[in-house]
Order: sequence, then structure tokens, then C-alpha cells
Amino acid sequence: ILFLLGICTASLSVIIAHFLARRAVLPVKSNFEKQRAFVADASHEMRTPLSVFSASLEFFEAEEKGRLSESSKETLTDLKAEVKDMNSLISQLLSLARADNDGMASEKKKFPLIRMVLPMVSFYNQKALDEGKVLISKLPERELYLLANPVEIKQLLTIFLDNALKYTKKKDRIELKIWPNEEKHQFCFSVGDSGIGIPDEERKHIFERFYRVEKGRTRQNGGSGLGLSIANEIVSAYKGTITVEGAMKVGTIFTIRLPVLKITE
Ligand code: ADP
Repeated sequence: ILFLLGICTASLSVIIAHFLARRAVLPVKSNFEKQRAFVADASHEMRTPLSVFSASLEFFEAEEKGRLSESSKETLTDLKAEVKDMNSLISQLLSLARADNDGMASEKKKFPLIRMVLPMVSFYNQKALDEGKVLISKLPERELYLLANPVEIKQLLTIFLDNALKYTKKKDRIELKIWPNEEKHQFCFSVGDSGIGIPDEERKHIFERFYRVEKGRTRQNGGSGLGLSIANEIVSAYKGTITVEGAMKVGTIFTIRLPVLKITE
């Protein structure tokens, strides 16, 4: 494990050093665009060593698990969790890089939303049950067709559902509602929870990149502070809106409206 960790750390350090060196030769007054490009390039380059590391861990686990001591097994589990967090951080940085390059809301196609949502609902249902929580979903009876990038719509729903699960405790309730507003050609959804809530004064900041309310509580939940900023980028790209309601200890409701509903005759 230490050998694998060594390889991974070394490759990541080389990549970071390479980018820092490249940055060092840029003019001191390096502008915002260059910073963005730096983050995008660095994230992209980190993907390969990380996936090699992840595959090596899987291989190591398959080969050696029977021979490992309890503490080595725990280390292996921790390493896998770290790799997973790192992978999701890199994907989030790449999504933001795409947003900065006006790449969001570009590859649109017509697709059936409910068909995409049903497997998600059963996944989150199970996740909620495993955590001693309840997920209630209120979906329309008829299929809704959207003209959008399905990957982005799925990412949007995932961000709010993941957060609802992250910021709730045992016995809390999470409610996903989806409905059409045919008059405005909007696909609307809300994700509500009876969790810890967001303090009023923090609400205006939660869509900022890397912003986390009470860093401690989030870190422990594996949050990076990027989820809602990505959600905000996706929603703005589709010219939609997000509203937040709720109160501390009562819970939070996010409502999203996107004018992407495709009404078919
Ligand atoms: P993170 O990865 O930290 O969850 P996000 O950008 O998704 O980052 O959210 C920003 C912050 O907003 C979180 O750190 C958390 O404090 C707060 N937050 C988001 N969703 C909820 C929620 N459903 N309930 C309470 N707090 C939330």
C-alpha cells in the first residue's frame, strides 16, 4: 500500500510542480483567465495518475485481501475513500472549467426525464434507508421530455440529493418533487430536507466556489464547497432560477426552475 501511495503522491507532485513551474514563468500579473486555465489543466492532468492509482488499489485488494491484517485492511479502505473524494473533486473542478469555457448547456438533446430519474430515486431511496432516513418522491404521472444535456440535468439533481443526505441526521426526511410548468415551458424540481438548515446570513454565500458553512461539519461529510457553485453554473447556463428557503434546525428547501420543457403533441 505504501508503495502504491508513494507512486501516486510522486506523480501528483510532479504534475503540480510542473504546473507551478509553468505558472512561475508567466508574468507576475497573471490574470484570471490564466488561473482558470491552470486549474483546468492541472485537474485534467491529475486524472490519469489517480485512475492508475485507483486501479492498482483494486488489483492489490483482489490479490492480497486474504493476507492483510485488520489494520492494513482499514488503511486500504481509507485509501479507497480518499481516492474517491479526490476523483470527485477533480470531476467538480473539470465541471467548473467547462462552465468557464461556456461549455454548459451546449450539447442539448430531447430526452425522457422520468425514465432517467427513476433509477436515481431507487438509488437514493436505498441510501436514505441505509442511513436511517426517509426519501419521499413526488413525480408526475406522465413522462416529461426535456431539451437539455441529460448529463447536466442528472448532475444537478445529484448535487441537491447528495446535499440533502449529507446535511440530515438519522430519522430525517428528504423530499424530491418534480413537476412541469407547461405555460412557462419549465421543468421544476425541489429537494427539501428536515436537516440541520442553513443560517440566514450564510445563504447568500453558499453558491460561491469552495464556500462551506462551518467548515468543520462539511469536511467531516467529505464536502468540498463546489457542489452548489456547479449547480448555479448549470442553472444559469439554462437561464433558470434557484431559490432557497428554510430555517436552522427546521431544514432546507431548494427549488430549481429551468425553461427546458419540451411539450410534445
Ligand atoms: P459541499 O461540498 O460542502 O456540500 P456545496 O457547494 O454543495 O458544498 O454546499 C455549500 C454549503 O452549503 C455546504 O458546505 C453546506 O454547509 C451548505 N448546504 C448545502 N446544502 C445544504 C442542505 N441541504 N442543508 C444544510 N446545509 C446545506
